[in-house]
Amino acid sequence: MTRYDFLIIGSGIVGLVLALKLKQKFSKKRILMLDKELDSVQHGTGRNSGVIHSGIYYPQNTLRAKYCISGSKQLKNYVKEKNLWINECGKILLPSSKKSMRNIDVLLRRAADNGISAEKIGKKRILELEPNANPFLGEGIHVPFTSIVDPKEVARSLVNDVKKKDVELIYDSEVLEIDSSLGTVSTNESTYYADTIINSAGLQAETIAKLSKFKSEYSFLPFKGKYWELKSGIKLSRLVYPVPDLNLPFLGIHTVHNRNEQIYIGPSSTPAFGRENYNGVKDIKIKEAMLLIFSFAIKIILNVNGLRSLALRELNLLFLSGVHKEAGNLLNGVKRSHLHLSEKKVGIRSQIFDKKNKSLVSDFVIRKDNKVIHILNAISPAFTASFGLADYIIVNVLDEN
Ligand SMILES: Cc1cc2nc3c(=O)[nH]c(=O)nc-3n(C[C@H](O)[C@H](O)[C@H](O)COP(=O)(O)OP(=O)(O)OC[C@H]3O[C@@H](n4cnc5c(N)ncnc54)[C@H](O)[C@@H]3O)c2cc1C
Repeated sequence: MTRYDFLIIGSGIVGLVLALKLKQKFSKKRILMLDKELDSVQHGTGRNSGVIHSGIYYPQNTLRAKYCISGSKQLKNYVKEKNLWINECGKILLPSSKKSMRNIDVLLRRAADNGISAEKIGKKRILELEPNANPFLGEGIHVPFTSIVDPKEVARSLVNDVKKKDVELIYDSEVLEIDSSLGTVSTNESTYYADTIINSAGLQAETIAKLSKFKSEYSFLPFKGKYWELKSGIKLSRLVYPVPDLNLPFLGIHTVHNRNEQIYIGPSSTPAFGRENYNGVKDIKIKEAMLLIFSFAIKIILNVNGLRSLALRELNLLFLSGVHKEAGNLLNGVKRSHLHLSEKKVGIRSQIFDKKNKSLVSDFVIRKDNKVIHILNAISPAFTASFGLADYIIVNVLDEN
């Protein structure tokens, strides 16, 4: 049996950055990465908005706040050092209702606590910064730090880097069994042994945790993020986001543009009936879908975390009129005929649910169990936070008893 110092399950951005940083710190150690897919961008890492977040949303001292802030600076530096595409365009947040206007001050307080530059601005300034924005309630927030990158390009660059540093990366290799006390990991082809195993399997991290018999208080509740292409001739110089509902771990439907200036409106937060159910009913697994339908139904009936109002809003998004309304809260000049549901751009959030507290978990969760470190709930902004999270795991979790 081949022995490794570190074995990383999952080669999305979280696993890749960890492998890179482990090699930078322990150059002689042997590292193996396993991924069930043929590349690193089939799930969260290749299916997100590509936004480097500032950290304005997250309460101080949460893992999301800490590692979004330290990670975002490192990710920007990495992208610039490697000459990858980046648009440091900044972001405008607009309230969509009188109720959400109250959150402007909460967000400005969080920005101050987290050391993030953000200012409240009025209609005139909003329109100077983004002439296509629709500041119909007369105020918003400007966050200059926020940027957009190409997440697939970033991941491919990291894959090259880890390979150059002699990390063994094996694709098409699905982990099927783990013994957390022996440190063994089996795929359908081989069994490996490692001193430390890191579970960074994104959407499947909770499945891997169960495989290793890790007892946790969490279950899995996937939310699909659908995007609509905006085909209108509108060009945006800033990102435009809503002021979010701070009871939910989602940021709300926003604009994002890519390197080809294609604008998308999304992502939705639609209950998903499978962990990797990206394409409607095509890749549904009946047993998993039934369990998830039941689980969502109970939570919507009990209105856990305000899920009933989220469900109603998501119902509206089944109709183009609903999507048009959300887009119109952000931008002027959008017609229904400009909006087209994207078949390719769709992601699923690796959201976990706390069964004890009966709530959606809104922070990253990192647990060590024998030889395995589990990275659970790698929800947004884990792409932005990946460099900070890797530092945290190497400094604080590796040697924990
Ligand atoms: C719609 C949407 C938009 C988002 N937008 C942003 C954003 O703008 N900015 C931001 O910071 N974050 C964003 N996020 C969050 C971000 O995409 C994720 O947090 C991040 O990609 C998580 O990376 P990961 O490496 O943990 O997971 P993944 O990228 O999902 O990687 C996990 C890997 O594990 C592999 N794997 C799974 N099971 C096994 C197994 N049994 N054996 C072997 N391999 C396995 C998978 O094949 C996969 O490659 C968004 C998320 C979504 C869904």
